[in-house]
Amino acid sequence: MTKRLFWEDMYMVKAEAQIVDVREIDGRYHVLTDATIFYPGGGGFPKDRGKINGKEVLDVYDEGGNIWHVLPEPVEGKAFMEVDFMHRYDFMQQHTAQHLLSALVHDMAGGTTLSMHLGDEYSSIDVDVPPHKVDLPSLEMEALIAISQAREVRVRYYSRGDTLPPTRKPLKWDKIKGDVVRIVEIAGIDVSACGGLHVRNIAELAPMILLPKIEKYKGGSRIYFYAGYRAYSMIDGYRKEMAQLKSRVDELIAENKKLKKQMISYMVAEVWQQAQPIETNIGKMIIIRVDDPNIVNTVAKARPRDLDIPLLVIGEDRFTFIGPDDIWKQMQAYVRGGGKMGSFSGKVMDREGLKNLLGVRI
Ligand SMILES: [Zn+2]
Repeated sequence: MTKRLFWEDMYMVKAEAQIVDVREIDGRYHVLTDATIFYPGGGGFPKDRGKINGKEVLDVYDEGGNIWHVLPEPVEGKAFMEVDFMHRYDFMQQHTAQHLLSALVHDMAGGTTLSMHLGDEYSSIDVDVPPHKVDLPSLEMEALIAISQAREVRVRYYSRGDTLPPTRKPLKWDKIKGDVVRIVEIAGIDVSACGGLHVRNIAELAPMILLPKIEKYKGGSRIYFYAGYRAYSMIDGYRKEMAQLKSRVDELIAENKKLKKQMISYMVAEVWQQAQPIETNIGKMIIIRVDDPNIVNTVAKARPRDLDIPLLVIGEDRFTFIGPDDIWKQMQAYVRGGGKMGSFSGKVMDREGLKNLLGVRI
């Protein structure tokens, strides 16, 4: 039986052990040591990566309690072990987050976790309650509250015959293989039998986020989550994407403004190309009707510099009149507005009256 140092201290990154056997299989060397810090995988938790005597550990497996390490070259004597802790710690965070979520879903929606997936890309749990019964924002908030309370994660071992504590999934000795059971507890939140690796305190799961989607899965629900550095990278990715999107949106807004300005100037030029003086009851005048009341002033301002007959631009109920004061005085009975130096703008109050005054269609 290999001594499992990873259970004694999950944060042990380096260790020294004695090599007790080496088997050559298909050009690779399977190395057995008296103790190991390499977790051989299991319970949804991946195998550890790392090096022994500077050589890459290609695989780790458990064979009847003995943990074998597969190396590309032979080694002998002492084994100097080094675990890829970034990889290990990432999964310790995801796995402990899974305990936390499973416990919270159980408390909040009565759901039992049927399976879990701890992957390189994402982690998820499958629970036996339909999506409409799981309130994701509340679940996420409860997880964040628990994390902020920095609850301790404790591991205890119970031997056959000991009274087992009440666990999330009920445990009975007659259903347990072996004589020892490992119970992992998140203080006040979860008690489960588990052989995986966990962080010491759930404060280490921060930040933790749930994906804002819940999938229907075999009549139950699949919930996706990210914890620790992985969650931070994801948030950071979103933040960078948002910044890119924001600058793209700003560019599009600026482009749109430019196009709008261009379009208005084409429209105004077109309007002036077609503008002709007409005879009205109060003399010769240019009358321009536009669809967009917001460009009434722009059209008036674009008049030829040498225009020497009165101009009336009308769009819906807005108008601009450029002409002598005596005509303006006559128009004032039908409009509300003002101006100076022969340029007046405002609102048409009596279109019919103004039409009668001019004697032409406006
Ligand atoms: Zn566990």
